Amino acid sequence: MNVHESEKLAGILEDKGYVLSEKLEDADVVVFNTCCIRESAETHAYGNIGALKKLKKAKKSLIVAVGGCMTEQVGAKEKLKNTFPFVDIIFGANNPNEFKFLLENKLKLVHDEKDDRESFVRTSFPNAWINIVYGCNNFCSYCIVPYVKGRERSRSENAIMQEVDTVINQGYKEITLLGQNVNSYGKDTGTSFCELLEKICTTYKDSKFRLRFMSNHPKDITEELIKVIAKYPNIICPYIHFPLQSGSTDILRKMNRKYTKENYLDKIDLIRKYIPDCSISTDIIVGFPGETDFDYQETIDVVNKVKFSGAFTFVYSKRSGTVAAEMDNQISKEVKKQRITNLVALQNSITKESTKIYLGKEVEILVEGYDEKRNLYLGRDVYNRMGYFPCEEDLIGQFVTIKVDRVNGVSLFGELIRR
Ligand code: SF4
Repeated sequence: MNVHESEKLAGILEDKGYVLSEKLEDADVVVFNTCCIRESAETHAYGNIGALKKLKKAKKSLIVAVGGCMTEQVGAKEKLKNTFPFVDIIFGANNPNEFKFLLENKLKLVHDEKDDRESFVRTSFPNAWINIVYGCNNFCSYCIVPYVKGRERSRSENAIMQEVDTVINQGYKEITLLGQNVNSYGKDTGTSFCELLEKICTTYKDSKFRLRFMSNHPKDITEELIKVIAKYPNIICPYIHFPLQSGSTDILRKMNRKYTKENYLDKIDLIRKYIPDCSISTDIIVGFPGETDFDYQETIDVVNKVKFSGAFTFVYSKRSGTVAAEMDNQISKEVKKQRITNLVALQNSITKESTKIYLGKEVEILVEGYDEKRNLYLGRDVYNRMGYFPCEEDLIGQFVTIKVDRVNGVSLFGELIRR
């Protein structure tokens, strides 16, 4: 989401005639798009902003802007102003129009437009990201997002469909619909995520492109949604990111996730019933306050049962301003380290096994880029696996088929056999 937010900021600057500068010293405007979901990201951002002081002193005309969710925390704008008086513009998260307005003020330009359309420079061809819903209403006890990004707000279906139309006509081959919880789309505007998916799939049924979405909330994934995904196998990828966070019902309650271990596993069964080949990835936090050995083993149990195609694993770290940061029974560093090491080893062995079945298979890849280090083109299959192959020609943006002759971790390597 943050990459896409940055694309929007770049789009505003490009509209004003700016171009991307290769070197920091050449820049006329420097924009920091920050993230405060993890405390370490915030510390990094503060370090990077501070490092600009010298440049600003040498180049008075330089405009320095800081935005993103870090600025939305209580007292953050004042703290930024006091710590870095050389910062010219401070703007909020999910609000490129605020940045545009403040920039224009700074440049003494007139601002008189604001609507639901979004302009940006897409930097990720052939993948296009489209925001469908902002904010979150869930208040998981460890997460700061609802405080800094506000409550859920769905974009209008018209604005989304116009954007889908534009990217398809521009030749983008993969669209990812984004939201903190995409399943909530439309609850505030009288429509639904299922209706949106149906609309996109029926309107563009004759176009060759892939549709993905993230993130989902397990409590909000319904049988109806799974059926819609299964109904359009040529468009919607059989890939669901399905954040578990913990396999322990007790910890899930403390996390305020509003589902149990059993609910979660039932939904996995439902996904496998309608989409047997579905690839399912997840997020897991270990070392949440009060997590006992039993709770941790419950997480391991789910990982063993589900066999995720991939997992983003995190050690719980306190985020000030959240309910969990104030909880008793914080887990020691040593225990957290042991738990994450074991979990990562287990997931790696599962991923390795699941990748092996690709050997000798033909896989369709959407070519996304060129890996300079490996001297290979790369892209992903519908299950979100990365595939690499050698080629003399630039095939970025094309669907090609490779025959897999080697696998390594989550990556597939092969020869180009069709295009
Ligand atoms: S659903 Fe996601 S974004 Fe919302 S509070 Fe929970 S973890 Fe944070």
